[in-house]
Amino acid sequence: MKCPRCDYLDTKVMESRVSVDGRSIRRRRACLKCQHRFTTYEKEEELILQVKKKDGSFDEFSREKIIKAISMACRKRQISMDQIEAMVTAIEAQIRSEGDRMITSSKIGDLVMKKLRQTDHVAYVRFASIYKDFKDPEEFVKELKGLKTQRDLAKTPPPSLDMD
Ligand SMILES: [Zn+2]
Repeated sequence: MKCPRCDYLDTKVMESRVSVDGRSIRRRRACLKCQHRFTTYEKEEELILQVKKKDGSFDEFSREKIIKAISMACRKRQISMDQIEAMVTAIEAQIRSEGDRMITSSKIGDLVMKKLRQTDHVAYVRFASIYKDFKDPEEFVKELKGLKTQRDLAKTPPPSLDMD
């Protein structure tokens, strides 16, 4: 977003607010060079997010793709489609609140993992094992240990096995 005063190309988003109809976003921006503050109203068609993939190519942000990936990880788990949709909505809102038009696929993956981690550990591990493409088993074990520690901190009992 170009500064209207000095034409500098980099601005910082101070505040984002989605309009009542949800089709535009009002942003307070500050120029990183001259500190000039201005407001932009961005319409839906201007809000297309580009996703930069690992191979360097770009793709348009797609809710459906993320929903599909999460659904695969959540197969046979007690997670409803509504929950998955809510996760993706929260992820998309977070990305958009940052005001960039571009996000890397790995950042999206991290956001998904964060959500799954809070929701279902099995789905999380499944997603992580596909998505993170762990180079060595050590890395994966470390990830699992991280999960365990978190659970201990939360002082919740471990999930019961199907024995009762
Ligand atoms: Zn400026």
